[in-house]
Order: sequence, then structure tokens, then C-alpha cells
Amino acid sequence: MDKKQLDAPATESADEALQYIVDGFRRFRKEVFPQQEELFKKLAHEQTPRAMFITCADSRIVPELITQTNPGDLFVTRNVGNVVPPYGQMMGGVSTAIEFAVMALNVHHIIICGHSDCGAMKAVLNPESLEKMPTVKAWLRHAEVAKTVVAENCGCDGHNTLGILTKENVLAQLDHLRTHPSVAAKIASGQLFVHGWVYDIETSEIVAYDAELGEFRSIDEGPMPLATPRARYRHD
Ligand code: ZN
Repeated sequence: MDKKQLDAPATESADEALQYIVDGFRRFRKEVFPQQEELFKKLAHEQTPRAMFITCADSRIVPELITQTNPGDLFVTRNVGNVVPPYGQMMGGVSTAIEFAVMALNVHHIIICGHSDCGAMKAVLNPESLEKMPTVKAWLRHAEVAKTVVAENCGCDGHNTLGILTKENVLAQLDHLRTHPSVAAKIASGQLFVHGWVYDIETSEIVAYDAELGEFRSIDEGPMPLATPRARYRHD
């Protein structure tokens, strides 16, 4: 990482910020693209992503970096708080991306990934911080259920409330995800698997929800934790 990358953004002018991004693109085009030309040629006319990845808009989360995946591997949808509105409430960007990924791209996995130090989760805990942000406030109503689950079940005395809420929010969004007919149908027939992850920015650890154990555990070793309900139909 060069010195410039370490500069606090606050010391950077608007012009410098844009220049940094454009310089990066020029480096990509000159140095990176030629090395991966074959891949981009293959991707030029089709995509067959390995998974759909729903995560927060937070700039510190870089799905392709933390999963070491290439262009074409992840169908990514991002928004404040890695929210999935329940089906029917909002025919917006997230619902559209889900339907497209499942029906048109035939993805077999949908990963919902929350993260440590999430501003959206902090806002859910301190709703008064959103007084001047009515749109964010309305959006985060989809995370309200997680807040209630935590409040009703966890005294949180001396606990990491933010961490617990972040996990509960991922579980709430997994529940919402399963209200989408395209998702529910393919889960029922064992053609689609859903996963709930939380990524820690400081340590790089990822924990995933294990539905059988009812808790999150590291995906670093051992069998992959499964959050998907059992299939009820077979299409062989
Ligand atoms: Zn976040």
C-alpha cells in the first residue's frame, strides 16, 4: 500500500479523490487487463456466476477480495445494512436482483453477508441519529425485527450488542429472502442454498450461521455451516 492510500480521506480534495480513482482505472487498463484478457474475452457475452452475494454498501467490504474471486464469479447486490425487503413490500432493486439471479442466471447459492462496525446496525441501535435521513430510516425498518429479537431475548449486559444485532440482522434478512417465491421454490427442491455470513473487518474472520446448531461458527475449517432448510421435493 503506498503512502497515498494511507492518507486520511479528510485531507484529500474532491479533485484528488476523483483523480485517484481515474489513475487506478488507467493502471487497470494498462497493466491488469492485458494479463487477464482471456478471461474478459470469455466474459464478454455471458455470465454464469457461482453465487449471488448480498452485502452492505460499506466501502470496507470488498466481496471479490475477501473471497478471492474473479470477475464473473459473484453476482453482487449491495445496500445499506445488507437488507432484503420481504417479498411484495417493495419491488425494488434487491428483489429484482434476486429474481434475476435465481430465475435467469440459475445461481445455486445466495450469501447474505453482514460485517463488523456496520454503520447501519449502529443506526438501528440509535434511531435518533437518522432524524435528517428519512430514506435511510425507512429502509432500515426492514432491520427492525432483528432489534426486537435482540431486545426481547438478550439482556446484552456486558455483551457485544452491536455484534449480536449484526448477526440477528443477517438471520432476519435470510427469513425475508425465503419469502421470495423464486427463492422458496428452489430451496424446497434442493436447487438453491442460502447462507448467512458475518465478516470481521479487523481480523478477516468470517462466521456463518449453522441452522442445526442455531449459532454462527467460523468457515475457516470443518464442514461448511448450513443455513438452508431441508429440501422437500426432488427433481432428478
Ligand atoms: Zn454496513
